[in-house]
Amino acid sequence: MKRAFITGVTGQDGAYLSQLLLQKGYEVYGLVRRSSTVDVNDGRLRWLGIADRVKLVDGNLLDLSGLIRTLRELKPDEIYNLGAQSFVRSSWQQPILTSNVTGLGVVHMLEAIRLECPTARYYQASSSEMFGLIQEPRQTEKTPFHPRSPYGVAKVFGHWMTVNYRESFGLHASNGILFNHESPLRGLEFVTRKVTNAVAAIKLGLAKEIRLGNIDAQRDWGHAKDYIEAMWLMLQQDEPDDYVIATGRTVSVRDMCKVAFAHGGLRLDDHLVIDPELFRPAEVDILLGDSSKAHAKLNWKPRISMEQMICEMVDADIQRLKENGGRNRV
Ligand code: GDP
Repeated sequence: MKRAFITGVTGQDGAYLSQLLLQKGYEVYGLVRRSSTVDVNDGRLRWLGIADRVKLVDGNLLDLSGLIRTLRELKPDEIYNLGAQSFVRSSWQQPILTSNVTGLGVVHMLEAIRLECPTARYYQASSSEMFGLIQEPRQTEKTPFHPRSPYGVAKVFGHWMTVNYRESFGLHASNGILFNHESPLRGLEFVTRKVTNAVAAIKLGLAKEIRLGNIDAQRDWGHAKDYIEAMWLMLQQDEPDDYVIATGRTVSVRDMCKVAFAHGGLRLDDHLVIDPELFRPAEVDILLGDSSKAHAKLNWKPRISMEQMICEMVDADIQRLKENGGRNRV
């Protein structure tokens, strides 16, 4: 039986990846941060019905000695580093924390692997936010980075550290440069989920409006379920490498909203308020990925369209708001 260790296991990707690995017969361990005020936030694992099958280990990406001890005990075959301060807007509010967790946390993982389990296979969650102010109309593995937020800068650091440990020490370490990927388990702070949750609330008479920032921004949105398969495929290759994972189609926030509102039987213009407070100090105007390499080498292709995904998210939010008396807990 193969053993996997996942950081960020309570997040969207951690939950779907745990589900996939359990289906494949893995033993799944996940790193969680303890807090004195709330229980472990395993709502997403519970939503997928796998909370009792994922073994949670206390720890923190900032705590190198704890990571070393954990890897010494577990000796995992595969390690997926999905943990991060991942909300771009908060990264201006907490640039140093973001640099520590999202950037330095990667070196902590790589050092712990080098010391304790150098033959383990490592997946680093790189991000399309690294492209930022895009240098080419379609971004590939070779497109130069120009990050536009402390989050993007920290991800570039983690990306190159992963490449460096591969080249310096021969680690089986791969970067997945994933473009935006969403699902009913996406955090409520991200724009897709904010919109689908608002459509559900308006439809149920719990809210009247939605406040958004720059709705002209364009993103290449895919479904998290498709994208976590690419993570696993990268670690099944003989050679580690870096891959762009994207749909190859870009859509504006405005048009994504229209899909969500239409699915709820509503009109966007009746409910939208543009709030200047929600604009960012620097914006990533457009992202469009080219995942030809992943298609050629991993035989990976996305299956779920943006429209299908947004409709699934609206339906899930309506159902959850009804079940939870107007409060969305996942
Ligand atoms: P990101 O691409 O990782 O930053 O993912 P987000 O879902 O947070 O944001 C996607 C885009 O939507 C960005 O260009 C945001 O500026 C834009 N956007 C517009 N209004 C909002 C909003 O109210 N919340 C968020 N999260 N993004 C917004």
